[in-house]
Amino acid sequence: MEQWISQLQNSVNSLDKLKKYINVTPDEEKAITTLNTTWGTTPYFASLMDPDDPDCPIRKQVIPSMKEQENQYGIPNYLIWKENRATEEIRPDSIARQYHDRIAFTITDICANYCRHCFRKELVVDRDLKLRFDVEEGLQWISKHKEIRDILITGGDPFILSDDKIEYVICKLREIPHIEMIRFGTRTPVVLPQRITSGLKKVLKGYHRVPIWVNTQCNHPKEITEKTAKAVYGLLSCGVNVGNQAVLLKGINDDVETFRELHLKLLEVRIRPYYVFYCEPAPGIDHFRTPVEKGAELIRDAIRGHTTGLAQPMYVVATNIGKIPLMPDYYIMGKTDKEYKLRNYEGKITMWPNIPE
Ligand SMILES: *Cc1c(COP(=O)(O)O)cnc(C)c1O
Ligand code: SF4
Repeated sequence: MEQWISQLQNSVNSLDKLKKYINVTPDEEKAITTLNTTWGTTPYFASLMDPDDPDCPIRKQVIPSMKEQENQYGIPNYLIWKENRATEEIRPDSIARQYHDRIAFTITDICANYCRHCFRKELVVDRDLKLRFDVEEGLQWISKHKEIRDILITGGDPFILSDDKIEYVICKLREIPHIEMIRFGTRTPVVLPQRITSGLKKVLKGYHRVPIWVNTQCNHPKEITEKTAKAVYGLLSCGVNVGNQAVLLKGINDDVETFRELHLKLLEVRIRPYYVFYCEPAPGIDHFRTPVEKGAELIRDAIRGHTTGLAQPMYVVATNIGKIPLMPDYYIMGKTDKEYKLRNYEGKITMWPNIPE
């Protein structure tokens, strides 16, 4: 049996299994035994947990918490609202649309790790929202909509599907003349790097008109190991670009040190930081949310100028009308007809000529 399949079959998703990895606290035990929620991770990801520290960033992303019952800021029926599922355009359940030229194509609700902060929690984790993931229906819709040029395949985690199924979807999309790129959103390079097998690489590799891009989700430097580095290298060697979409999580990556280390370590393993998302107002994840400005402040204080431009993610709030960038805004201190007064990351000031139209 392939390693990645046995990782999934041996998912750490019960109290007894979790106790093999960590010293479970009474709070964790209470949440596991009382909350009616899907949870679990791979033995690999569980092995990265700190057995004695309940504040371990990996534990907090994996183990349910009683705080998930609190909901002061979450929006009810969040996903329906966020993904514009109640609008006049009739679309298959598998398709979420916010933009003219690209869509999110959801083809599974299974994940290797059920992230506690997931914005699709209602669908993927709590499972009180049911959608139909009919790939054929989705492909037909896409082929009829010529304005769509970019397909973001997501989930759940699409790399949980078999090589054959992934290959099928890629081939079908490549046959559609107006499709110019295919993207996968998958956490597997981080939570299940064993998934990047030679079989999958065969499916992904080769020069084609329509390129494949992968975005993964890594939220803390502790999640990056040699196995991740090799999985990413495997993808890159197939001509697949790998980016990161982190989620800003209170108590996990919202301090300057961790935030900078995360982005530097991503580059070290050849992952290009793409987005940092504000933790969305899905129900039951208040405890992960920071003030909105926090992400911009972290980019200002931890990254911009402090390190290479290659390490810069874009900080966005992902709303029902699309992603809205909220970047730090401190560079232009003033402006006259003749010149700009510009400030750098250290607070130093310089002058720059102002050229009239
Ligand atoms: C995030 C998202 C996309 C892709 O957005 P990019 O900014 O191009 O990465 C497309 N459609 C939906 C519905 C999305 O949520
Ligand atoms: S892998 Fe993605 S879809 Fe799955 S639980 Fe985590 S954030 Fe949600």
